[in-house]
Amino acid sequence: MIAPERATRPDQFARKHKAAELGEYDDKCPFCPGHEEQTPDEISRLPTEGDWEIRVVPNKFSSLSTDAVKKRTNDGRQHGIAGYGHHEVVIESNKHNRHLALQPVSAVKILIQTFKDRFHAVYADRAIEHVTIFKNHGEEAGTSLEHPHSQIIGTPITPIQIRDRLDAGREYFDNTGECLMCATLRDELSVGTRLILDTEHFLTFIPYAALSPYHTWIFPKRHSACFGDITNEEIDELALHLKNIVSKLFVGLDNPAFNLLIRSETPRASNSEYFHWYISIIPRLTKPAGFELGSGMYINATSPEDSAAFLRSIKETE
Ligand SMILES: [Zn+2]
Ligand SMILES: [Zn+2]
Repeated sequence: MIAPERATRPDQFARKHKAAELGEYDDKCPFCPGHEEQTPDEISRLPTEGDWEIRVVPNKFSSLSTDAVKKRTNDGRQHGIAGYGHHEVVIESNKHNRHLALQPVSAVKILIQTFKDRFHAVYADRAIEHVTIFKNHGEEAGTSLEHPHSQIIGTPITPIQIRDRLDAGREYFDNTGECLMCATLRDELSVGTRLILDTEHFLTFIPYAALSPYHTWIFPKRHSACFGDITNEEIDELALHLKNIVSKLFVGLDNPAFNLLIRSETPRASNSEYFHWYISIIPRLTKPAGFELGSGMYINATSPEDSAAFLRSIKETE
């Protein structure tokens, strides 16, 4: 339900009170430089020599483990699987307060390259069925750790959210002979009112029926089922799109909490004609409540067209 009459102005979601200003370094933070021994043994770092700018470490409080044995149980209607899996943390910066919106594009490129490297590395484990790459920023998005970081979880099963999207993509393809997301790209480009950034290889836009205010998608224009197939040229351009949208949200909505997700097929199905990888960015400006939980329907008090126009008008950070 798109109900913009419930809202007053596009920027009504800006925070009433600003978050406390953070310093570059926090002596209690396990992700700040000098505290490397507080995380489990490092998986990778860049640059490999000298001071690091980005580090990947196992999650100290992982709920999945490669020590478990992947084994399913099936007792009538009660299905289970042992908690086998990978859970990694990507520490995005050596600065405690370097929000993604404040990173130079060169650092965002390195972050995307790191996502790609770890995506392939976790999928190299054949016991992993699905890899989810995501970022939680701010308490309303599910994190209390302020130091900029993202996470990568490899699960022994395909999550239901992915299965639903794969099923929808397959049904659309079987009915029409084309990819649902390629068709959506064509629609959005021809309507034009929900676009935020349009370049050679990517499109950033607010979907037609966005579930919540400022919910944004970044689609690669080239049909590609698997994020792991992204080329170097595409990484360069995706970094521009990520920096653009995250900094517009940071400036226009006053540093909102948000989640970022990469939705992708596995490398084993990278030639799929009916799935198309993409990024969702979901500012956490409203909370799903009883109606949403009870019905699965969402009330969005902003119009996607007005939200896109508002974000287009915002000047991004340097
Ligand atoms: Zn820190
Ligand atoms: Zn496609």
